[in-house]
Amino acid sequence: MLNNKKGKLIVISAPSGTGKTTICKEIIKRVKNIKYSVSTTTRPIRKGEIDGKDYFFVTTEEFKNLIKRDFFVEWEKVYNHYYGTSKKFINDTISRGINCLLDIDVKGSKVLMDKYPDGIFIFLIPPSLDELRRRLLMRNTENKDALELRLKKVKEEMEYKKYYKYIIMNDKIKDTVNKIVEIINKNV
Ligand code: ADP
Ligand code: 5GP
Repeated sequence: MLNNKKGKLIVISAPSGTGKTTICKEIIKRVKNIKYSVSTTTRPIRKGEIDGKDYFFVTTEEFKNLIKRDFFVEWEKVYNHYYGTSKKFINDTISRGINCLLDIDVKGSKVLMDKYPDGIFIFLIPPSLDELRRRLLMRNTENKDALELRLKKVKEEMEYKKYYKYIIMNDKIKDTVNKIVEIINKNV
């Protein structure tokens, strides 16, 4: 461990399509001493995603076994699929003095706010609902029903905004990344 100082959790949440994944990939490139927490999910793999890098893709049965084995520090059913965070990965990482970046939903974040009160919790908001729809359509990874389900959840997700210390509108990617890097550098 570096100077016996523990690492911190840096948690990014946002309605689907706002840009969490894009922003997290940039943050990993820009910030030193940080690791990305790869979640486990039952969602089907998207074109371009890599098993073990973007997510660990498992069956529902495998996911339920992991729940039984207490593998997750938090898990949720989000947009009809299961997603969970490895307890061991994040605890090992912060114990070694390394900061840990997570892209998780608002409910999972709330659980971590209670368990890791010194974490840095950031909520990204899209410039508008129209722009959010445009980004999801452009990403072209969901069928119509899955896309509509994601848009239907936006209002409910936005209600969690009040729990976050940092709220950033993801308008220009570069500006958002700069703001987050500044927040991280100030707080770790
Ligand atoms: P999330 O992980 O929040 O679901 P993604 O990172 O997959 O969102 O981004 C959704 C789509 O929007 C992607 O096609 C991405 O390239 C695009 N995108 C992300 N951030 C921006 C931005 N600031 N401006 C324009 N497009 C963006
Ligand atoms: P996507 O399918 O678009 O990659 O992610 C869908 C949602 O699941 C996003 O809100 C994302 O942040 C969330 N998510 C990803 N991993 C986890 C996780 O480990 N736990 C929780 N609670 N949510 C997650």
